[in-house]
Amino acid sequence: MAIDNYRIVSEPVSGDMSGLAKASMDWRRLAHNVETLAGLTDAPLMAMVKADGYGHGTVPTSRVSVEAGAARLGVATLREAWRLRRLPDLADVPVLAFLYTPEQPGLAETIEAGAELGISSQAQLAAVAAAAERAGATARVHLKGDTGISRGGVAESDWGAFAEAAAKHQAAGAVEVVGAWSHLACADAVEHPANAEQKAAFGRFLAAVGAAGLEPAVRHLANSAALIADPETHYDLVRPGISLYGYNPVPHIRVDLKPVMELRSQVATVKRLPAGTGISYGHTHHLERDTNVALVPLGYADGIPRAASGRAEVYLAGRRRRVLGRICMDQFVVELGDDTVAPGEPVVLIGAGAHHPDADDWSAWAGTIPNEILTGIGDRVPRYWNRGAE
Ligand SMILES: *Cc1c(COP(=O)(O)O)cnc(C)c1O
Repeated sequence: MAIDNYRIVSEPVSGDMSGLAKASMDWRRLAHNVETLAGLTDAPLMAMVKADGYGHGTVPTSRVSVEAGAARLGVATLREAWRLRRLPDLADVPVLAFLYTPEQPGLAETIEAGAELGISSQAQLAAVAAAAERAGATARVHLKGDTGISRGGVAESDWGAFAEAAAKHQAAGAVEVVGAWSHLACADAVEHPANAEQKAAFGRFLAAVGAAGLEPAVRHLANSAALIADPETHYDLVRPGISLYGYNPVPHIRVDLKPVMELRSQVATVKRLPAGTGISYGHTHHLERDTNVALVPLGYADGIPRAASGRAEVYLAGRRRRVLGRICMDQFVVELGDDTVAPGEPVVLIGAGAHHPDADDWSAWAGTIPNEILTGIGDRVPRYWNRGAE
């Protein structure tokens, strides 16, 4: 791969520069994941870079994904799409945005900027067609059918009318239907009956679109789990998100993915406390014996989930160590036993090494999924993209 074309960002992209914490992204691991996922399918990839590239930074994530072979980029909001449309080096890469209200200001500007729009209702279709006329442009749209997630997308009872309305707007030049798509509710539960039902419903949706005389070039259904678990969902495009960042939502199917982000902090203070001492808010933990404890200056305001209190571990001075008591807004306490470390000792919260905790561990401790851990890393944590793990 032509590595030199990457614009490696070695300065922090955002965040508080006080050095208390740092999220380091390794572009090689992202490129590896893109290539690995591309190897699972004949369909091109739409790299899902919404929510600031799942917390990794939209712009570098997009550049590396495209350089590694992604054909398209997917975001949620119009603002996310504008941000990508402003980058001259990605001007040729289609960007899809799909979360907006029919009345949302900026629709015409989005169409003018060349972003593609997902359409999930007749009202959105009418608004996009009107905005395209205002912009004097043709809106490139992806018609979304709700095939069973009951979230975005037009309900099955309205597919015929929806497709016919889209065909009218296409004939008038206001829209060009480039895509037909849907989203799976249970793709990570491979045996769930909803998967077969949704695939069958997607077939009916495509038939309804076709019956209106539309021939969308890009039919798409698969998120990461479906890309990995079910080739029947691949169609003309797959939309991986979490797997790009190194996490496999169907872990019983082995895929060689590497975590892209490492999250490190450092020890702020160390002290010795006697047996019986209560630790942190609510004294939910009492020391069993005299113990050295370290203070780590990251907390739930930085995305370290409070729900992981009492279960979480970090990697500090050569091994995993327990987080004691409640995780607070800005800090938490780590058990050192009789070990002593100096302030400044590195603490790995999310790492790529075998002994490091990762976002899967944090999600298990907090009762969530790695997507929420990664997108939750707060604004105070500066993001660095560099040539690899330091
Ligand atoms: C976020 C998103 C994806 C990616 O989902 P992952 O499970 O993270 O792979 C795909 N498609 C749509 C419509 C999404 O909103």
